[in-house]
Amino acid sequence: MKKQKRPEMPIIKRKCYSCGKMATKPYVYHIVPSYSYGAQIPVYSKNDVKTKRVELKGKRKVLVYHYCNRECYELRKPPELYEL
Ligand SMILES: [Zn+2]
Repeated sequence: MKKQKRPEMPIIKRKCYSCGKMATKPYVYHIVPSYSYGAQIPVYSKNDVKTKRVELKGKRKVLVYHYCNRECYELRKPPELYEL
């Protein structure tokens, strides 16, 4: 495995979905919509260029929720997909 050099990350503040505080090291929760039954599921092979999840549009859009930490996540979990 090649290691990629990463630029230093600036401090990112994200508003906690649970308590509303600004979290500097947010606990990030991604909801990736599952493919509906019968939908064409892309098959990935080693040589494929990976599609960035966040670039997916429409129904495949990934929802991102930020929390201070795991506890805040437990206090207010993201809505279930069927509620969206
Ligand atoms: Zn919080």
